[in-house]
Amino acid sequence: MNELRLPAAGEFALLKKNYLFTEVRRKTAAFLEENGGEVINLGVGDVAYPLPPAVTEALASASLEMGDNVRFKGYPPEGGYPFLRRAIVSYYEGLGVKIKEEEVFVGDGAKTDVSSFAEVFGRTEALVTDPVYPVYADSSVLLGNAVKFLRGNKSNGFLPPPPRGDDKPRIIYLCSPNNPSGGAYDRAGLKEWVDYALSTGSVIFFDAAYSAFAGEGIPRSVFETDGAKECCVEFCSFSKFAGFTNLRCSWVTVPEELKCRKTQVIALWRRRQSTKFNGVSYPVQRAAEAALSPEGRRECEKTVSIYKSNAERISAFLGSRGVWHCGGKNSPYIWLECPERLSSEEFFDGLLNNCRIVGTPGNGFGSAGEGFFRLSCFAREEVVAEALERLGDCPYFR
Ligand code: PLP
Repeated sequence: MNELRLPAAGEFALLKKNYLFTEVRRKTAAFLEENGGEVINLGVGDVAYPLPPAVTEALASASLEMGDNVRFKGYPPEGGYPFLRRAIVSYYEGLGVKIKEEEVFVGDGAKTDVSSFAEVFGRTEALVTDPVYPVYADSSVLLGNAVKFLRGNKSNGFLPPPPRGDDKPRIIYLCSPNNPSGGAYDRAGLKEWVDYALSTGSVIFFDAAYSAFAGEGIPRSVFETDGAKECCVEFCSFSKFAGFTNLRCSWVTVPEELKCRKTQVIALWRRRQSTKFNGVSYPVQRAAEAALSPEGRRECEKTVSIYKSNAERISAFLGSRGVWHCGGKNSPYIWLECPERLSSEEFFDGLLNNCRIVGTPGNGFGSAGEGFFRLSCFAREEVVAEALERLGDCPYFR
């Protein structure tokens, strides 16, 4: 067979063979192939309820416009249609945060945005908490960036504070409410990070994909913190709160105040997007606008509250069995210590074989996740009721 004679497969050689969730899907399919029947999937963070009516109505009517001679639209503006950027600005106003329309960039998913943004800084070093959403570390590696991990553990509630005595400027990836640990920084915790970024000349990439799950006292935007506009970029997604995991829509907020060596970062991102991105479709942006309308928000909140109540029920069950866990309060994820000192992979297999429940092994989110396990509460409430019955009979939790 003929082979390419390029120097190498680039940085890909440094990644694990499979992306974490591809591996979970592969193992689940192998189990079903061998054993037949069904499993309850609490492994992947995909939504379980359909889009709210306000969203589907906007989507349908915008799709019809696209078949009209006059109202048809070609390429969308790269940064997003003004109507959606305005809706996002009003969302921030509701949080008491002033953002300008031009500072908002509509995208096709937080995964795409957060994994691309570091391109504007060239090669540098990334600081990533461990365990963590694998995209931060993997995309840093693909960009040729060194990665320093900051370990989460039971005593810091898997929400590590900034490293002491280390003043190297870096890209800091923070996710709050957090995937996978479900923990969330309060105002003081975020302020500590913002002060650290300001004092070291670092930039924080703040992933707020789960902000809609944040309860009392938990900031939904990093820009609720003083000084954040000089050191933060924020990534938000319609996936989790409005059910857009298939439709695809997100936004990045880049404050004009954010500068890197006297250059405005917003100008760099605008330049990058105009080269590599052609925008999000009109019907999807109309659907996203509808999700942020008062009616859309009420409908979205109903679904979010079901996911949160799923989490409360699972957390109450684990508590009743004396299992250490965190999360579930401001997030759809529960992070638990594997019973009987099992490794993450052993518990994954045990739970699948004993209860036919799929979760995510904690070690897939980083080495500090070994011995822990993530349960996702993105499931229909009746499915969680069934899962709880199975867990109640599970030998690990008797
Ligand atoms: N950020 C975090 C922390 C996530 O957990 C996920 C998805 O699971 C994403 C981003 C991806 O969001 P999107 O669907 O907008 O790409």
